[in-house]
Amino acid sequence: MKTNYHTHCTYCDGKEPIEHFVNKALELGYDQLGFSSHAPVPFENDFGIREEQIPEYTKEIDGFKAQCPSLQLFYGLECDFIPDMTKPFSFFKNQFGLDYIIGGVHLVRPENSDDIWFIDGSKREIYDNGLRDFFGGNVKKAVTRFWEQSFEMIETEQFDIIAHFDKIKMHNQKRYFTEEEDWYKLLVDHCIELIRRKQLIVEINTRGIYKGRCPDYYPSDYALAQIAKHRIPMVVSTDAHKSEELAEGRDAAIEHLKSMGIKYLMYRKNDQWEEYAIV
Ligand SMILES: [Zn+2]
Ligand SMILES: [Zn+2]
Repeated sequence: MKTNYHTHCTYCDGKEPIEHFVNKALELGYDQLGFSSHAPVPFENDFGIREEQIPEYTKEIDGFKAQCPSLQLFYGLECDFIPDMTKPFSFFKNQFGLDYIIGGVHLVRPENSDDIWFIDGSKREIYDNGLRDFFGGNVKKAVTRFWEQSFEMIETEQFDIIAHFDKIKMHNQKRYFTEEEDWYKLLVDHCIELIRRKQLIVEINTRGIYKGRCPDYYPSDYALAQIAKHRIPMVVSTDAHKSEELAEGRDAAIEHLKSMGIKYLMYRKNDQWEEYAIV
């Protein structure tokens, strides 16, 4: 199976229209392609789809279905979870008849505050400034807040795939903390346990590597080893924002998963997720 369910087109911050990704997927012989625009958030932004555009987005994808019978198309959203701020993920799923939801944390809300710390994007200084301004430079507090927000998302929202599991490491670049520290590992352990209980799918996300922003996949090997041990279901995501990124790093990621003892990936079958063997 050749699949990608994490794809951003021009309805959000992706750089190309839906058609380009469809053509690329056909060219690459893909079996399934899913779009996952960033969901609306309740403040002005230039990265998310606007709620009133969602019907047009799903209709446009539906329009391509008849044209390419060899490629199954799906639509979902990549929903941000910000405590007491974002709409329930199930609202979008039900309101717009989406196939699936990817849940992720890109925006960290400090406790008892309306500030928002943006941990993603290309600018490391935004990460550094937020760490200083919203958390007084206390990296343990800031990183813990990211994980707590992930825990709350898993416990309270309905979704299918958890996006870039440990995105918080991206702009760290081993400057403020290392992933080997006990306090950090405990947070990862707890997140894996919640994912296991909730039966979520974890993506191995290749974007950090091919964008040169992070030397490792999301998630790092420490988490992947536990994912293998507990047989937590996985998909490979390129998180493509351009059509040329659609398969970027995919083959290497599958080889990496195999080397970590992971033997299965998930795909869409009759509106459900089913596993298939990669070895
Ligand atoms: Zn994301
Ligand atoms: Zn994404």
